[in-house]
Amino acid sequence: MTSAGEANVVVVMHTDATPDEIGAVLVRLHELGCGTEVSTGKERTIIGVLGTAIPDLAAMIETLPGVDSCVRISKPFKLASRDFRPLDTVIDVGGVRIGGGQVVTMAGPCSVESEDQLLSTAHAVKKAGADILRGGAFKPRTSPYQFRGLGIEGLKLLAEARSQTGMPVITEVLTTEDVEDVATYADILQIGARNMQNFILLEEAGRTGKPVLLKRGLSARVEEWLLAAEYILNTGNRNVMLCERGIRTFETVTRNTLDIAVIPLVKRMSHLPIISDPSHGTGKWYLVPTAAAASVAAGCDGLIIEVHPDPDRALSDGPQSLTFENFEALMTQSRAFANAANRPLWSDYAPTRVAT
Ligand code: PEP
Ligand code: MN
Repeated sequence: MTSAGEANVVVVMHTDATPDEIGAVLVRLHELGCGTEVSTGKERTIIGVLGTAIPDLAAMIETLPGVDSCVRISKPFKLASRDFRPLDTVIDVGGVRIGGGQVVTMAGPCSVESEDQLLSTAHAVKKAGADILRGGAFKPRTSPYQFRGLGIEGLKLLAEARSQTGMPVITEVLTTEDVEDVATYADILQIGARNMQNFILLEEAGRTGKPVLLKRGLSARVEEWLLAAEYILNTGNRNVMLCERGIRTFETVTRNTLDIAVIPLVKRMSHLPIISDPSHGTGKWYLVPTAAAASVAAGCDGLIIEVHPDPDRALSDGPQSLTFENFEALMTQSRAFANAANRPLWSDYAPTRVAT
């Protein structure tokens, strides 16, 4: 059960608290008008409390049987923090589970350009082991004279690719006006780096109830990023994943600086899955496989990779796009790192995967 309002407090139960004692705490919290989110761990149960405007809530709850302590979440982000929810969030997207152990692969072109381009890429990445198809229909471009995407036509092509391959699709939503259309066609809504702090868009996307992938802003601090995630979570939508896509630094040899250390850092600070985007993170196709392997080794929950049938002729992000062959090589390399870390690729792990 959830309710709106700030989540400031977690109730930590004793390791030997009984189900009846846990139940009694939940009843009391609900009587007080609070929402609750229960995390049942191996050792103990933790109850995140929502809507805690009651000043002496901790004192009221701490005396109940089975309660070990009531802890205030001191961090500015609450729902996104590991204190609130100690267990990993796992998001189910059409049977693909993101978070909680395996490494999920999202792949496809930067932009949807044509039926041929998208369908050939979709089949190729699926064959190589990708789980989710990416492709931009609404493109944020640095210059207004660059290709800005096919719009609704692109969304329809993504839906066609999904029905041919069975892969769920992720695509960017640029404006609040497009949220409804994008949510109609896509399985995951992508919020781009340039929109990370577009708080109205975050809330609109959150309210669709669809999973949301939130890219890190070009120069966003981790705390700002997690607070942006908090906007989505606060709409009641718990299906949020983060995406490290490189940040802007003094270095210009690479397009961005992929912040590898942020992957284990965010996993420590938050229960939300984190996806690495080595394509935008490096900007160079020949750096992408190594940066992907490094991300897997660093503990990411998934990768998002740009792939194009003919990168030299791509309408966007050609220099960082992989050919089908190079994507296959990336999958082979990432698989080795994933298996070494005992966190297999989802496509190898998924019991229901149908070979094509
Ligand atoms: C993209 O995924 O193609 C994209 C535009 O990404 P970002 O928002 O990270 O620049
Ligand atoms: Mn791109």
